[in-house]
This record gives sequence, structure tokens and C-alpha cells, in this order.
Amino acid sequence: MKYDYIIAGSGCAGLSLLYRMLKDSQLSQKHILVIDKDQKVKNDRTWCFWEKGNGLFEEIVTHQWETLEFLSDDFQRKFDMTNYRYKMIQGIDFYDYVIGFAKQFDNVTFASENITTITSFDGFAEVVTDNTTHKAMYVFNSTSLFYPKMNTENSLLQHFEGWVIKTKTPVFDKNVGRLMDFRLSQEHGATFMYVLPTSETEALVEYTLFTEKVLEKEQYKVALQNYIKSYLQIEDYEILHTEFGIIPMSLAKFSRKVPNGKNIINIGTAGGFTKASSGYTFQFVQKHTENIIDLLKKEKHPNPTLTFRDKMYQWYDRTLLEVILSNKLEGKEIFATIFKNRDIETILAFLGNESSVWEDIKVMSCLPIMPFLISGVKQL
Ligand SMILES: Cc1cc2nc3c(=O)[nH]c(=O)nc-3n(C[C@H](O)[C@H](O)[C@H](O)COP(=O)(O)OP(=O)(O)OC[C@H]3O[C@@H](n4cnc5c(N)ncnc54)[C@H](O)[C@@H]3O)c2cc1C
Repeated sequence: MKYDYIIAGSGCAGLSLLYRMLKDSQLSQKHILVIDKDQKVKNDRTWCFWEKGNGLFEEIVTHQWETLEFLSDDFQRKFDMTNYRYKMIQGIDFYDYVIGFAKQFDNVTFASENITTITSFDGFAEVVTDNTTHKAMYVFNSTSLFYPKMNTENSLLQHFEGWVIKTKTPVFDKNVGRLMDFRLSQEHGATFMYVLPTSETEALVEYTLFTEKVLEKEQYKVALQNYIKSYLQIEDYEILHTEFGIIPMSLAKFSRKVPNGKNIINIGTAGGFTKASSGYTFQFVQKHTENIIDLLKKEKHPNPTLTFRDKMYQWYDRTLLEVILSNKLEGKEIFATIFKNRDIETILAFLGNESSVWEDIKVMSCLPIMPFLISGVKQL
């Protein structure tokens, strides 16, 4: 067999895994094929996430915030974090950083090919592309080939348009990241703005919705223009960069396992690492790929089993999403209640799957019990 591992899809999860393999002395000489249909040459997304201390990609963190802000109609709160930092990484910096590092290794091959099928056989897996067929002991897949069926009954879309704007005069506080500003019309569903200043004159402003359908292009533009003018009170600015994204928030079963696919391991969104209740993915991908490395080093099957806590977090996510999907409560009300009543470290630990059971209870106890009980039972 030509390859030890094939990484199918070189986005966030594929390249995180590749980087971890190459950083590990035991795995760095393995023969690895990385396949993607696209060249990763565009700044197609900005990743934000929170973590304690320095992470693996610290060198390419564009900016980090020690204070986060939450706003709703009747309250506004700034939270100074003690342990966590909210961090931003530009997609292009990440792609360049990992691919540049990998190019130093003769044992890593990159292929620009469209994958059509991935099949597992006894002891190996096979990837068929428009051009050829490749074989490896394990295939780590982040393409959408094994996505479950999503529909409006089991899924919401998190869709957003973001603008990086530059002002002529200093207007932003670069120490404060505005995580959610819910002072907007909720006519389409949960809707908020996200404002992340990277300097006194530059910020990413993102209009985000959790709804069944995406909006017309013009609606994002109008919402951003109005917010920048009315809430940020900025008249004179230049748009440096725009991004648009759709992230699935789904009750459908995204699984790291593939039916009859022992040698295929789903990673990233495909593997269920996009948190159903928030869309955050980056930090969960980091934990999963770290676990895969540990297992590969021990020569064990690289599919980390779900722990009891993993299952609990999945259940919390599904419950919260069910509450919103079934219109029992509005997203705005849920997030506003949590941010009004609990401290930021507890909230971030809970939303980042790092909380203690006591912290889980602390967060959940501030929410109305009945809607969560009904949805929770349904999602058991
Ligand atoms: C604009 C945007 C902003 C986001 N911001 C955040 C954020 O701030 N924080 C956060 O945690 N998450 C964020 N997300 C969500 C999530 O982190 C990203 O979607 C992340 O890139 C998911 O990683 P992934 O590896 O699963 O998928 P991707 O990064 O999309 O990688 C999948 C790769 O597979 C390739 N591929 C797909 N099909 C095929 C095929 N048939 N053949 C060959 N190659 C194929 C694609 O070209 C792609 O490179 C954002 C998403 C978007 C779209």
C-alpha cells in the first residue's frame, strides 16, 4: 500500500490533523496523502474560538480578547475573563502555515482532486477521485460524502455575512470583543451581531442568524449597513474584506463512524464536531485530532470512543437546539438569560464542553425548566 493515511479534505480538520501528525516524532515519517478539490489559497473564513493558555496555533492568532461583551434589549454586560481568551485566526494564515510546514516533508503528498467515493475494505480504505484511486490504512474524511440527511425539521442553518471594516478615526476598543448583540429584530429567528475589533480602526462585523432558510443577499447588506450606522455610529468606513458562511446546526446524526467503514474516520463537521447549539467547530476539532494522534501512537484504532461526558454534551446540544427548533423559546431569550445570570468562565466552560457537572447544573438552572425538560426527554 502506498499510503499510511489519506486525509480527504484539507480544511480546518484535515490540516489540523496533518499538522499534529507532522509535529509528532513517531508519526511524522508516515506516508500521508492529502486530497482536496480546491487549492487553499483564499481567505475564505475567520475562525474564532476560546481556550486557556497558548494553543498549537498561537503563532498565527491574529488577535485575542480578554473581555467579551453581551448585549440584549434590557441589559448590557462586559465580562473580563480570567482563564479563557477569545482568539481569532484567519483562514488563509492557517492554510499557509500548515501547508508551508508540510511542504518540508517528502513523505507528504498533496493532490488536487475531486473525491467521488470512499470505501472501507478489510485492513485498508480506498478513495476514488475523478482522476484515480488511492489506498491507505486509514482515511480521515472531512468531505460531505457521509453527511446525514438534513431538513427543516431536524436542522437550523447558522448563516452569516461578515465585513471587515476600516474607519478613518479611532472608534473601536480592541480589548473588547462583542460576542452577541441581540438588540435586533428577531423576525427571522435568533439574530445577532458580532463585532470583533482588531485595532482602534478595524473590526469584523458579522450579521448572524439561526434560521431555517438563508436570506436574500441584499438583506445581509442592509442589516450590516444599518447596524454600523445606528449602533456603532460609524458613517465613514471602507470594507476591506467580506465573508459569508452557512454552518449546519442539526439534530441529524453526524458521526465519526461510517457504516461498514471501519477504516474511515470522519473528522471536522462531517464527524459531528460542529456544535449543534452554537456552530463553533475549531476548538472541538483540535481536541478530536489530538485524541486521534494519541491513539495512532499507541497503534490503536484511531476512532476515540465517546465518553459519558461527550454523550452528555451532545444531549445538551440536541436539547437546546430542539427547544429553538420547536419554538418553545427564542434563541435570544435563552442566551440572554444565561449571559445575564452566570459568569463568563462558567458559560464558556459549558459551551466549550469543559465544564464540571456542577457548572452544567449552574448554567441549566437559570433557564426555564419545562421547555428544556420536554425537549430533553425527547432527545434522550
Ligand atoms: C465563513 C465561515 C466562518 C466560520 N467561522 C467559525 C468560527 O469563527 N469558529 C468556529 O469554530 N467555526 C467557524 N466556522 C465553522 C467551521 O469551523 C468551519 O466550517 C470549518 O472549516 C469546518 O472544518 P472542516 O474541516 O470540517 O471543513 P472544511 O474546513 O470546510 O474542510 C473540508 C474540505 O473538504 C474539501 N472537500 C469537500 N468535498 C470534497 C470532495 N468531494 N473532494 C475533495 N475535497 C472535498 C473542501 O474543499 C474543504 O477544503 C465557520 C465556517 C464558515 C464557512
